[in-house]
Amino acid sequence: APATAAAAKVTAPAVNPDGIAIMSANENPYGPSPMAVEAMSKELNNLNRYAYPLTQAFAEKVAAREGVLPEQVLVTNGSSPILAAFSDYVNVKGGEIVTSAITYEGVPRVAEQAGTKVVYMPLTQDLGYDLEAISAAIGPNTGAVYICNPNNPTGRTIEPAKLKAFIEDASAKVPVFIDEAYMDMADDYPAGVMSEFVSAGKPVIVARTFSKIYAMAGQRLGYGIMPADMAMAMRKTGRLSSVNHLGLVAGMASLDDKAYFDDMRLKMIKGREKLIAMANDLGRPYAPNPQGNFIYMDLGMNNQEFADKMLEKGVKVVGSRWADKPEWTRICVGLDHEIEKCHAAAKEILTAI
Ligand code: PLP
Repeated sequence: APATAAAAKVTAPAVNPDGIAIMSANENPYGPSPMAVEAMSKELNNLNRYAYPLTQAFAEKVAAREGVLPEQVLVTNGSSPILAAFSDYVNVKGGEIVTSAITYEGVPRVAEQAGTKVVYMPLTQDLGYDLEAISAAIGPNTGAVYICNPNNPTGRTIEPAKLKAFIEDASAKVPVFIDEAYMDMADDYPAGVMSEFVSAGKPVIVARTFSKIYAMAGQRLGYGIMPADMAMAMRKTGRLSSVNHLGLVAGMASLDDKAYFDDMRLKMIKGREKLIAMANDLGRPYAPNPQGNFIYMDLGMNNQEFADKMLEKGVKVVGSRWADKPEWTRICVGLDHEIEKCHAAAKEILTAI
């Protein structure tokens, strides 16, 4: 049947047609759950329908998993719109956003574009989020805090008890946004999940994406859980957008595919171990104990120059992105042979300097 053929076709090619190993975007190189692909292929004839009932069904499913009410779930195409809607929410409400100097740009960049001031606190010595400094920076002008845990690009996590104490204290003053895009691949999972604050009615937002462990970066699905009134306000700022039908179908099937989740979690953990082994073999320092599907490595040379040279050798890695560290790059997992290709290319480039 065409549906099965489509499913087989989509799950098969894990290598990019041009042969370039893409290790720059923190994607999952293994492809989505076969159950998600099957569910999407069955739905292809229903794409004439708006996805409102499915959005509601998805919100209900997520709410039950997270221990919140369906009206506390904001569903979007990937989690980027949640990050942007939150930035807009703070902009309308007023106040500055406090975050870390090196972190994911989704909230701070959109905030700055809208004219919101962002206060960047330096990382700790071991490249972690400096929660003490962030706590100390919260003052009368603060509108919100953004925490990425595990952090992109460093891969560092915050010890759960420490983060909980921070959230308890900070959320009594301002809304706290916790971006858990990579939490489900961290060693601390599920201890590091902070949903309980949302269940408890605190002004805390936890964002998740299907782009990473569920390998749906191109299909787009994400959600945030938060207080119901905040979800309503953020729904209004994004009122012209809606969620895509196939993403919802794939997301629901992915959540039911426990075997896939367990397998991907292991693959991401093994992948980062291979990246660590690569950094060790190259003799390059890296941010310790990375917990996402990537490492952040000190190249000892300009990162954009390195990225250009790597691309010539068929490997795509991040170039100049985090201005504070012009000699560091982020490399994410690929398939085994792609990691080997990356290792060989990096060795040639870095031993030539
Ligand atoms: N949050 C973090 C920490 C990310 O690294 C990313 C993407 O790399 C996102 C959010 C946004 O991804 P998406 O819109 O695909 O959910």
